[in-house]
Amino acid sequence: MALSDYLPMQERCSNCSFCKWVPFDKINGVRFADNCPSVVLNGYNTYAARGRFHMGGAIVRGELEYTDTMADITRQCLACGACDVACKICRYNLEPLEHNIELKHDAIVKGKTSPEQLKVMEALKTEQTMIPGAKKASRMDWAEGLGLIDVFEAPADVLFFAGCKYSYDASLQETARKAVKILQGAGVKVGTLGRGEACCGGRAYQMGFFEEFEERAKANIRGYEKAGVKLIVTPCSDCYHAFKRLYPKFGSEVKVLHILEFLEQLIGEGKLSFTKELDLTVTYHDPCHLGRQGEPYVAWEGVEKKIRNQIHTWDPPRPRYIGAYGIYDAPRNVLKAIPGVKLVEMERIREYSWCCGAGGGCSEVAPELSSFAAKERVEEAKYTGAQVLVTACPWCRANFENAGGIEVKDILDLVCEAL
Ligand code: SF4
Ligand code: SF4
Repeated sequence: MALSDYLPMQERCSNCSFCKWVPFDKINGVRFADNCPSVVLNGYNTYAARGRFHMGGAIVRGELEYTDTMADITRQCLACGACDVACKICRYNLEPLEHNIELKHDAIVKGKTSPEQLKVMEALKTEQTMIPGAKKASRMDWAEGLGLIDVFEAPADVLFFAGCKYSYDASLQETARKAVKILQGAGVKVGTLGRGEACCGGRAYQMGFFEEFEERAKANIRGYEKAGVKLIVTPCSDCYHAFKRLYPKFGSEVKVLHILEFLEQLIGEGKLSFTKELDLTVTYHDPCHLGRQGEPYVAWEGVEKKIRNQIHTWDPPRPRYIGAYGIYDAPRNVLKAIPGVKLVEMERIREYSWCCGAGGGCSEVAPELSSFAAKERVEEAKYTGAQVLVTACPWCRANFENAGGIEVKDILDLVCEAL
């Protein structure tokens, strides 16, 4: 679709501003009632999904052209989808998240890019990673000595896909190593693509670089088919979202599980058990691309239709992604299985969770927004009285660690400590 295809949707936005708030029946108090970091930081309607619909509509009708500020606004969206969930509480025929990302793409196509965006995309093009400065040749260095199976040479039970952040961030690599050891300890034959591994491209999509994402996705799908991969297990929420929600559009049939879904299964089968007690109170942050955007892909092709020249709908009906069926229970069940761990919840959880700030490529292209969102979430975590803020995504973890103010861990670290 092009931005112009969204004009009926842009004009259907009813200015209710539900997209700026946690669904009203879930609000416990005014302090943690907002849901869109971009509009809270900038204090101006155009930064919210509502304003993005109106800006997009004005561009399509030719009433506005992108200024530098407008292009910057398109980039200041975490692609977190909180607006999408909130809007769909009352509206059935709008897709705010999809439109936000299309607006980013439209600005890019019209040449309104930033140096930070181009740096990230250059890294994807030349080194097949979203981490500027990282080298493809050193992508698998983190896994040295782990005895991973090269799936091109021998069969494995699962393809372990660490993702760019775990592969290259020196402060996180130990967690990726622990993840592999946990799986191997449970008797799982763990494989990788070795030198053939490359970025999933999911963050390129979130940033609006659709053609670059598609190219990467198709190349990866060809690689998985060649290697006979049937199941991918990943500890990264962005990679999970790319494989589960975006790749099927290009014909991928490979199954994907977030590692915590897989560990939940192993615990249930008695293949993974704990021997130590941790005596720890934690609060869990739902990563956006594992939670509300972790719902499975549903194929759809259709057209917009008006009933009695008034009521908009789609024929056939579009799949309705509302965030409620994402991956929320597996991380909590793994935490509950660890002896001595007490989980206390924040106010904004599950599909109405507040973003960590790293989504949409914003940790690179909108660092002020990224830092603001992370600090706000840390405040919410501290409010629970938890000793540790735990999550299930390296991007969230790194962003919270940069924000400071509370100890941050991946659930995998706790699993390892309790074995
Ligand atoms: S995007 Fe949805 S929730 Fe936001 S103002 Fe428009 S109709 Fe209301
Ligand atoms: S996706 Fe997130 S940051 Fe972007 S407009 Fe919606 S709520 Fe705000």
